[in-house]
Amino acid sequence: MSIQQQKRPRFLRHTRQREAILRVLRMTHEHPTADWIYQEVRKEIPHISLGTVYRNLKILTEMGEAQEMSYGSSYSRYDGDPRLHYHFVCDDCGRIEDLEMPLVEGLEAKAAEWTDGRIESHRLEFHGLCRECNGR
Ligand code: ZN
Ligand code: MN
Repeated sequence: MSIQQQKRPRFLRHTRQREAILRVLRMTHEHPTADWIYQEVRKEIPHISLGTVYRNLKILTEMGEAQEMSYGSSYSRYDGDPRLHYHFVCDDCGRIEDLEMPLVEGLEAKAAEWTDGRIESHRLEFHGLCRECNGR
């Protein structure tokens, strides 16, 4: 290991496991659960544990490579697209769609007028029934 590599903080090093997890996450647009990611990564790395998947998902989120979408008591979903974008969530089947609409400009500045705190980011999601559930 070179001196340069040793100086890098541990979490910045991309391990083989973390790279596999990120690859799985980037190849889907379904916003999967950690368990789904675990099942997929196991096809490549059979000995990996669910705990390792969780730990690396947390690190990837902290690194800004992925987003965690938590929903109260239910399982978190993960998004391999770290850019700010909006979602449409089906309240029946739980499907999460990316909305390819442009971002609402000035939304954070507008919200900042209503708080003394400092706004640093926001999440915007719409709820309803997906096309399939709406058709039933
Ligand atoms: Zn649905
Ligand atoms: Mn998304």
